[in-house]
Amino acid sequence: AELRRLDVAHHLPAQSSYKLQRDIGGSRIIVRAEGSTIYDGDGNAILDGMAGLWCVDVGYGRAELAEVAREQMLELPFYNTFFRTATPPPIALATKLAGLLGGELQHIFFNSSGSESNDTVFRLVRTYWDIKGEPQRKTFISRRNAYHGSTVASASLGGMSYMHVQGDLPIPGVEHVMQPYWFGDGFGEDPVAFGARAAQDIEDRILAIGPEKIAAFIGEPVQGAGGVIIPPDGYWQQVEAICRKYGILLVLDEVICGFGRLGEWFGFQKFGVTPDIVSMAKGLSSGYLPISATAVSRAIVETLRSVDDDFVHGYTYSGHPVAAAVALRNLEIIEREQLVDRVRSDVGPYFAAALARLAAHPLVGEARSLGLIGAVEIVAEKGTNRRFGGREGMAGPMVRDACIAGGLMVRAVRDSIVMCPPFIITHEEIDRMVAIIAAALDQVAETLRA
Ligand code: PLP
Repeated sequence: AELRRLDVAHHLPAQSSYKLQRDIGGSRIIVRAEGSTIYDGDGNAILDGMAGLWCVDVGYGRAELAEVAREQMLELPFYNTFFRTATPPPIALATKLAGLLGGELQHIFFNSSGSESNDTVFRLVRTYWDIKGEPQRKTFISRRNAYHGSTVASASLGGMSYMHVQGDLPIPGVEHVMQPYWFGDGFGEDPVAFGARAAQDIEDRILAIGPEKIAAFIGEPVQGAGGVIIPPDGYWQQVEAICRKYGILLVLDEVICGFGRLGEWFGFQKFGVTPDIVSMAKGLSSGYLPISATAVSRAIVETLRSVDDDFVHGYTYSGHPVAAAVALRNLEIIEREQLVDRVRSDVGPYFAAALARLAAHPLVGEARSLGLIGAVEIVAEKGTNRRFGGREGMAGPMVRDACIAGGLMVRAVRDSIVMCPPFIITHEEIDRMVAIIAAALDQVAETLRA
């Protein structure tokens, strides 16, 4: 109770209503966690269906990550990369990432968050085109409801219009096109034809602006915060072909999808495309310390190396040795415990089967997943995508609150319940997740129908 009082008195949480924080008497205080379960200050055990915030892939309580951080802190807690200096852990981590990414993605720039990684993308891409002698290529194409972060550039790249209101965003040079959201925007249409239409919207916008002015296309392989939007078959191949046709850089934001979430190390491997730049964060360290990485192709780095100028961008904590050491060990855990295989051939299919059962619920319009990320769409009338109250966003938060009260942490995105559990989740825990969601749907059904 005292912590909740101090939370209201002094602490401003991220992405929150401060009025609501005050009105409910402070945030729920999470005090410890183990495996896939978090515990709050009132002694409630809550199954973490969100892996923290799409990030604690190896689960909670990994003592070896704490030990490696301790060792590195005692050896060398910090040194910068500004003075033609570097430390061993980020070099080792960059080498490891280059091996996992393969192909041309052989150069890694470190930052501390996904937002910073996408800010790096913004400046790096424009710098690249300047050096190439095509300074008019400034425009980024992104998609509606994309989430690329919360800084000025990354929120501008993002396509959530409600995030643009505060701070007068987007900054100039960002265009937003259709998202491949079949359930919301293509319902009743053949999914593959819908995906082709969504890809065509990108090409149409490129042609309307002028291909010679387009710098890059950025997208999440599967949109996460936008509602777990899994693109129809063929979509990514068409997007890649469009980028190649007009010489536009393809940037994939793998902040959620990277490191096994979709059952492959990276989403671009799952969808069979070859990006020029990849943003990574979250699962890179399983959230144990803040670190992100921006992978860049050889061709881009060759261009940057064709001039004497510094790339005057980067952060005090770029290549932080402790964060890098922890990330490296986290990747070792994923490899040692074969967690990517586990997502692909064990818990991923089990999760899909459990969601398929949930799809039979009268309030569920669609239950979709890929690997270990999924969403359940709540509808007013089975067989349609009609929403309760005739508008989006009424049912989702009610069901979410009932899930949390029932012992499952999930997130509501409009009228869908999104899930992204740790890779170590058990079959029993997946069954429990689905049972809690079904019970929450039953519980709110009457109120929604009233
Ligand atoms: N990109 C994607 C796809 C994300 O989901 C997020 C965060 O949820 C970000 C970028 C921003 O990352 P961060 O919150 O670490 O700045």
